[in-house]
Amino acid sequence: MYDRFGRDIRYLRVSVTDRCNLRCRYCMPTEGVEWMPHSAILSYEQIVRIVEAAAALGVRKVRLTGGEPLTRKGLPALVGAIKAVPGIRTVSLTTNGLLLAEQLPDLLSAGLDGVNLSLDTLDRAQFAALTQRDELSRALEGLEAALAAPGLTVKVNCVPTGSNDDQLVPLAGLAKDRALSVRFIELMPIGLGSTLDRRTEDEVLSRLEAAFGPASPRPTDPLSGPSRNMTFDGFRGEVGFISAVSHQFCNSCNRVRLTATGFLKTCLQYDHGVDLRSMLEAGADDAALRAAIAGAIDHKPAKHHFCGQREAADERRNMNQIGG
Ligand code: SAM
Ligand code: SF4
Repeated sequence: MYDRFGRDIRYLRVSVTDRCNLRCRYCMPTEGVEWMPHSAILSYEQIVRIVEAAAALGVRKVRLTGGEPLTRKGLPALVGAIKAVPGIRTVSLTTNGLLLAEQLPDLLSAGLDGVNLSLDTLDRAQFAALTQRDELSRALEGLEAALAAPGLTVKVNCVPTGSNDDQLVPLAGLAKDRALSVRFIELMPIGLGSTLDRRTEDEVLSRLEAAFGPASPRPTDPLSGPSRNMTFDGFRGEVGFISAVSHQFCNSCNRVRLTATGFLKTCLQYDHGVDLRSMLEAGADDAALRAAIAGAIDHKPAKHHFCGQREAADERRNMNQIGG
């Protein structure tokens, strides 16, 4: 469906948990994390009902995220149930990869279409410092398993923060010999993200061009999101930039987000949206659910204001509670 700015909303990101087995510094506090009680988290049945309503309104693509989605039991069953929703074309997963190798066979059988694996460094000590867990080898096992899966779309997501400057070229280099997309996501000033240094698209690109030569643009698929894709001579894969701050893409934003507690969020920066879980608990029927989703989409904010003053309606949650 179209919002009042003419944007066609086709993409729903679904956070299935706020829990995580890493503590990335831009995403979660080191200590004292208060988890949402299980009773406040949407059941899989509730998620599927919301996806059905969203699909009836035009959503075609669903991405499961978190927290770390693979820490929630039985995720393949959710993948299968969402794939079976009429209208849904692709179901993919954003993960840190630690539990991916062991769960991938079941996820593939359930029909998973793609995996975005978040990886900010290939250096073990740096990984341990950035994520506060010494788990690089398990993340890499997850990546290798995903790359070996026939037909699975695999992307690597890296957030350049200044602590991983020396890793940008090695990470992009993963796409040299593999059919892989390595994307650089500008740090957004949300939650703990406002406490770290950011590297802009232009800064990252100049490092990559110094190593690999001039970049040439690659076509982008509007359904696959705001990534500006490029490649270098001799590369099999590609590099992408998702630059919400330095190259704002709000006028083509096609997504909304469902938090693990059932809040349909219409813009990453604002606390705008609708509490669908309360509606479900109160016995709302499918028509009421569709109307609530349509109403929220209609009021999707025009754009974020990452570079401006804070506003009263700004998001106060950390990214693990939103889903990225
Ligand atoms: N745990 C999974 C993972 O890390 O892929 C899924 C959830 S995580 C919140 C989703 C994505 O959000 C990750 O790629 C992470 O790097 C990114 N992210 C978290 N905080 C961010 C921030 N402040 N700015 C930009 N990206 C952020
Ligand atoms: Fe966990 Fe993902 Fe946040 Fe890292 S970015 S702490 S892996 S939810």
